[in-house]
Amino acid sequence: MSIVETYTLTEEEEKKLILREYRSLLRALKLRLKKGDKRLVRRAFEIAADAHKHMRRKSGEPYILHPLAVAKIVVEEIGLGVTSVICALLHDTVEDTEVTLKEIESEFGITSSKIVEGLTKISYVVESKDTTQQAENFKKILLTLADDPRVILIKIADRLHNMRTLDSMGRDKQLKIASETSFLYAPLASRLGLYEIKSELEDLTMKYTENDVFEEITQKLQDTKRERTRYINEFIKPIKEELEQNNFSFEIVGRPKSIHSIWNKIKTKHVTFEEVYDLFAIRIILKTQTEKEDCWKVFSIITNHYQHSIERLRDWISAPKSNGYEALHTTVMGPSGKWVEVQIRTERMNEIAEKGLAAHWKYKDGNAGQESKLDDWLKHIRELLQKPESNAMDFIQDLKRDIFNEEIYVYTPEGDMRLLPIGATALDFAFDIHSELGKSCIGAKVNYKLVSISYELKNADQIEIISSKKQKPTEDWLKFVVTAKAKSRIKYYLKEEKRIKAQDGKEALYRKLEHLKVTTSTTQLQELAAYFKYPSPLDLYYAIAIGAFDVKDLSKLVVHGDKLIAPIEEVKKESHKEVIHEDLSKSMPAKGYELILFGESSDKIQYKLANCCQPIPGDDVFGFVTSGEGLKIHRTSCPNAATLLANYGHRVVKAKWAKNKEISFLTGVKINGLDDVGIIQKITNVVSGELKMNMRSMSIDSNDGLFEGTIMVFVNHKEELNELCFRLEKLQGIHKVIRLDME
Ligand code: MN
Repeated sequence: MSIVETYTLTEEEEKKLILREYRSLLRALKLRLKKGDKRLVRRAFEIAADAHKHMRRKSGEPYILHPLAVAKIVVEEIGLGVTSVICALLHDTVEDTEVTLKEIESEFGITSSKIVEGLTKISYVVESKDTTQQAENFKKILLTLADDPRVILIKIADRLHNMRTLDSMGRDKQLKIASETSFLYAPLASRLGLYEIKSELEDLTMKYTENDVFEEITQKLQDTKRERTRYINEFIKPIKEELEQNNFSFEIVGRPKSIHSIWNKIKTKHVTFEEVYDLFAIRIILKTQTEKEDCWKVFSIITNHYQHSIERLRDWISAPKSNGYEALHTTVMGPSGKWVEVQIRTERMNEIAEKGLAAHWKYKDGNAGQESKLDDWLKHIRELLQKPESNAMDFIQDLKRDIFNEEIYVYTPEGDMRLLPIGATALDFAFDIHSELGKSCIGAKVNYKLVSISYELKNADQIEIISSKKQKPTEDWLKFVVTAKAKSRIKYYLKEEKRIKAQDGKEALYRKLEHLKVTTSTTQLQELAAYFKYPSPLDLYYAIAIGAFDVKDLSKLVVHGDKLIAPIEEVKKESHKEVIHEDLSKSMPAKGYELILFGESSDKIQYKLANCCQPIPGDDVFGFVTSGEGLKIHRTSCPNAATLLANYGHRVVKAKWAKNKEISFLTGVKINGLDDVGIIQKITNVVSGELKMNMRSMSIDSNDGLFEGTIMVFVNHKEELNELCFRLEKLQGIHKVIRLDME
C-alpha cells in the first residue's frame, strides 16, 4: 500500500539522530525556558520516546521523530512556549500507547492533561468518511478551540508535519488528509492569523490533489526566478535609498506569491501563468517605536517614486482584522507598467502576521485592544457552539461562512464598531447586537436612510435598528441572513412558534380524550400519533392546530376501558365523514384536472377560504380536503402550505379562479414609511379616490418618525390588489407596501 523506501540507519545512528533532534528543540526553546522547565521538557520527551519506542512511521523512521518535529514547529513557527512543547511531545501518546491522562496530569499538571485530552479527542473523531460525520468532527474541533486555543494550534502543527511528510503515505490516505487540510486546517490557520502556515498547507494540498499543475507552476517559478529578482531589485532601489537617507531601520524583501494563490488567479481571472508569474509582494519591515506614524511616512516615501492605486489602499493599522492582522497595504505602478503590492509593517506586526494568535499573547500587555478583539472572536465561536442545533451539516456551513469569510466594518449609532461577514444584512446586525432586537427588527436606518431588514450592509455603514414588539420572525427571514447566530436564533423561534401553535391542538385533543373518558398517558398519545401516521404527538397536535387533522376522526377508534384502541375489523367500516369525502371527490373533476372556483355564489362546489392566508381571485391556490369542513382554499405561498403538501398530498386538489366581477373579497396591505404630514390623506386619495375601492378599515401607528399601518379593502381580483400596492409604494414617504398574510 505505501511506498517504503529502503531505510538503512543502524540502531546506534538512530539514537544519535533522535538526540540531535531533541537538542535542536531545546535550542529553539532556550529563550523561553525558566527554572525547572528544562526538566519538564526532558521528562515529556522521555515519556514519549519510551511510549513510542516500538513504533515506526510509514517511512520507516522511529515514531518519536514526529512528536519532536511537531514540538519544534510549535516553538519556531507558531511561537508557543513550554507547556505547548510538552503537549506536542505527548500529543500521540494517550491515543496510541499505554500512557494515560492521569499520568500526564500528575507529571505536568491539569492544563497539560486537558490540552492532550483535546488533541486526543480530535484525532479520535477525524477518522470518518461521510460528510455529516465530518461536520460533527469539525464542530468538536472548534469546541476544543474555544476551550484552549493551544489545542488547535498544536493540531495545526501536527497537521503541517504530516503534510510535509505525506509522501510515504498510500494514495487514498494522501487524498483524505489533503482534502481535510484544505477544508478545515488551512482556513483555520488563516483565521488564526498563521498566514505562513496557511500558504504552506495550501501548497502542499495542491501537491497531492493537483500534482501536475503544482509541478508545472513550481518549475515555471524556478525558470523565471532570475528575471523576477532583477525586477524586484530595480523596484526596491530608489525606495531603499530614500529610507536610508531618512534613517529608517528596516528590512525589505520581495517574495513571489504562493503556488496556490497563483493557481487561484489563473483559474478565477482566466489568465495564463505568463500573465501572473511576476506577481509578488514587497514587504517593508520597520524597527520602530512610533509605529503608525512611521508606517505612513514610508507610505509617503513609496508614493514619491511610484503612483499608487487609491482603490487598493488597505489600512489595517487603524482597523486591524479580527484575527489581529495589522499592516498597511498599497498597490503601486512599478517600472514597465506593472502593478506591485507593497506591505508596510513593523517588526511587531510582522510577528503577528506570521505567528498569529500566539504572538498576540506575547504582546498582550502592550496592546490590550488587539487582544480583546481576538478574545471577542473566540467568545463569538463559543457562543455559537453553545446553541444546540440538530443538523450538524447546516450548522457547519453557516459557521464556516460566518467565521472564515472576509469581514466588513459597520458602526452602531453610538459609533461602536462591529465586524460582520461580507453579505451580512441589517437583520444580521440586529441579531449581532442582541437576539431580542433581532427578533423584533422591522427595518433599519442606514446612514440615516430607511432600509428594509434585508438590506445588505457595506463597509462603514452606520446602522440604527428599528424594532416593534409586534414583529415575529418568519421562514422568509432565513433567506436574508448570513451569520450563524441569526440563523440559529431564527430557526429556534420558528420551532418555538410551532410548539406554541401545537399547544392549541394539544388542548383540543385532551378535551376530546377526557370527553371520551380515556387516559392522556404518554403511551396513549404516542399510539394515537402512530395510528394516524404522525412522527410524534407534537406533530399530531400541530396538525390539529392548523386544521389538518380533526379530532372527530378519533371516533374511528374504539373506547376500551380507559384506552382508545384500533377497531378490530377496520374493513369497510367507513365513518360518516369519509363518505362525505368520497362524495366530494366524486363531484370534483378527476385528478389532473383543475378545480375551478367561482367565488361565494357558486353552487357547484362548496369551499371555504383558509384564514391563514386569505386567498383572493388571481392568487395561485390549491384546494385541501379537510375531514371536518369540506374543501379549503389556500394560497400556494401560505405558511402552512408546505406542511399540508408534504404530509397530505393525497388530500390536495388543484384549483384555479374564474373571473367573477360581482363578488369581492376582503384583503389587506401593510405599509410602512416616514411619518409625513398628510400621508393619511394621500393614502385615502389613492384607495377611495383614484382606485374607487371599498375600504373597510385603516389603522396607522406612528413611532419615532416612522409609521406602520394596515388597510383592509374589498377587491375582486388580485390585479386590483397589485395596482393598489404599486400606487401606494409610489407615494412619497412610503417605504414598503406588502400584502397582509396572516389573520
Ligand atoms: Mn501526530
